[in-house]
Amino acid sequence: MKRPGTAALSMGRIRILPDQVANKIAAGEVVERPASVVKELLENSLDAGAMEVRVEVESGGRRLIRIVDDGCGMLRDDALLAFERHATSKLRDVKDLLSIATLGFRGEALPSIASVSRLLLETRSEDEATGTRIEIAGGKMLRCEETAVGRGTSITVRDLFYNVPARRKFLRTEPTELAHIASLVTHYSLAHPNKTFVLTSGASELLNVTPVASLEERVYQVFGGDVLDELVEIGVREKELLLAAAPPGEPEDAPLRVFRLTGFFSRPQVQKANRNSVYIFVNGRLIRDRLLMHALSAAYHNLMPPAAYPFALLFLECDAEEVDVNVHPSKTEVRFRHGSFVHDFVRDTIRERLMESRPAPAFAATPRIATSPGSVQPAARLPYSEFSQMLENEAPAGASLAPEEPAAAPALEQPSAEAESPLPGFALRPAAGPAPRLDFTAPPLEIAPGTAPSGKLHRTLDSHGEFPPEAIPPPETSLSVLSELRPLGQIHNSFIIAAGRDGLWIIDQHVAHERILFEQVMKQRAAGRVEMQRLLMPLIVQLTPDQQIDYARIADELHASGFETEPFGNRTIAVKAAPAAVGASDLERILFEILEIAEGEMRGASLDDLRRNICASIACRAAIKVNTPLDAGKMEWLLRALAATDCPMSCPHGRPIALHYSTREILKAFHRI
Ligand code: ADP
Ligand code: MG
Repeated sequence: MKRPGTAALSMGRIRILPDQVANKIAAGEVVERPASVVKELLENSLDAGAMEVRVEVESGGRRLIRIVDDGCGMLRDDALLAFERHATSKLRDVKDLLSIATLGFRGEALPSIASVSRLLLETRSEDEATGTRIEIAGGKMLRCEETAVGRGTSITVRDLFYNVPARRKFLRTEPTELAHIASLVTHYSLAHPNKTFVLTSGASELLNVTPVASLEERVYQVFGGDVLDELVEIGVREKELLLAAAPPGEPEDAPLRVFRLTGFFSRPQVQKANRNSVYIFVNGRLIRDRLLMHALSAAYHNLMPPAAYPFALLFLECDAEEVDVNVHPSKTEVRFRHGSFVHDFVRDTIRERLMESRPAPAFAATPRIATSPGSVQPAARLPYSEFSQMLENEAPAGASLAPEEPAAAPALEQPSAEAESPLPGFALRPAAGPAPRLDFTAPPLEIAPGTAPSGKLHRTLDSHGEFPPEAIPPPETSLSVLSELRPLGQIHNSFIIAAGRDGLWIIDQHVAHERILFEQVMKQRAAGRVEMQRLLMPLIVQLTPDQQIDYARIADELHASGFETEPFGNRTIAVKAAPAAVGASDLERILFEILEIAEGEMRGASLDDLRRNICASIACRAAIKVNTPLDAGKMEWLLRALAATDCPMSCPHGRPIALHYSTREILKAFHRI
């Protein structure tokens, strides 16, 4: 009887596959979908030094993808060579692999794409008077001739996968494929603010950005002022990697290993349900990387709920030798030589900036309208899908995942309010009508953070009393003003109303106190002396078998956090002392809560995370409850103590602590400006 599998074996002889077949196989990895074609061609244009890249697609890229650039172009001979397997101008020998400075290097993209489509290349290098026109279908060269074209390269890819029906079947709907393309081009436009990017789909223009001087201006162009207002700029942060000793083979005076992080990230109040708004670039390359993603989440630890994600636009720059980009054919994964250094550098930098800027959330008097369609590029409303989908597939258990298919389609042609609100869940300012459409062909705008243009000031001069314009304080976006606030009273015995230099503040008394206690307990814990109180009678707590296991695992940590416990018979423990902040009546509940944390999300987590969570539980249980009347002295104390914390923006579980209604917003709401 013939066993399955032996048929192939008995076919015997090994042979080298013809290039055409090899290219088609490579295409399986490199060209997964239309967006991968766009990615490869766009990267080639950028590598060619293009200052302007125009991308045109039809039917989500299935029928047509055309990329036109004004880069260096190709000489006729090179144009022919470019379609040979492993033909590249970017790499000469194996040594070069260690220091890749271009986006491409494998020489696989063009032959792969050409093997699964009908491709037309038109290109001219500065050094040749006439251009070259090459037509290829399914990997077969049909024509190569001279042509009159301007400098640069234009590549048209029609009927993608026309000769690979199996692949065609795996394509998603046209709007989905288009969303992938749009998010890709958008992201590259963010990485190159000094270049022009245009993306059109049929007759509609999805992205059109002209060169600007800074990343901030590009963010403004792409996402609009409302998003920019909610972001904190990192500035330029650098850290040098100190190597203990020069590794063997490396000269003693090895080059400095400096890592540089720039970009933007959102205030903790901006909470997204998935990673669609996290864009990470390493040396100008858009990548997906679990290490950096984890570093970002870690930066927001105890500032944001664990299942929420920020908006982030991070650019990490480092020595090419510090990062291996040759990990995957589509070049979207990297491997760092000193991973934990990179992780900690990114985490600490973002966290430090977050603490320094103490960003204050504003709140809206009326629900916020969707971002004004006029000022946001349609493509920017699309999810960051290509990479996020892959990431989501490999997300650790317990992380909350986005629905698989992003609801991107309707946003393309008809911006719907729901699809385009880029920062859901938190309304920012009173509705003020659409922001003016800005003309970006004009000289670049100077935009200071937090003061992005949102409409001209029209002061109405009528008989309702003058409000001298000088009296409008500059918008206060930092929580460093908390210590100057004057408490006016409480609402619902739960929220403190306070007047400040710039407007009105509302502070949630419970979470404010929680933050104060959390930092206090963390500090005591770090110093190894948590204030404890001895119980008159030990508290006996019965555990389930599961809890028993978790208890054994975290007993030391519990003890260090102020819980003196010891085993007391079968699956029972006796609690003899507890942190001073915890009331006896809360003790059992808090212990179970800690065990639950230890068992749930934290099983694989670090000790540091566990410690933070224990401290957070203690703080939460011990904090002033809502529905508690406070006298003026208590309120004042609370505000001062909050101002003195490292992070007065959010409670250890990630909820906002203080809301700010600026004088400007108050004036606007009263139609005084
Ligand atoms: P890689 O980018 O890995 O080198 P590709 O198959 O993407 O491989 O491209 C092959 C070569 O074709 C490149 O190395 C480059 O020399 C040339 N090339 C491709 N696209 C362009 C372009 N838009 N402008 C100029 N040269 C290009
Ligand atoms: Mg390439």
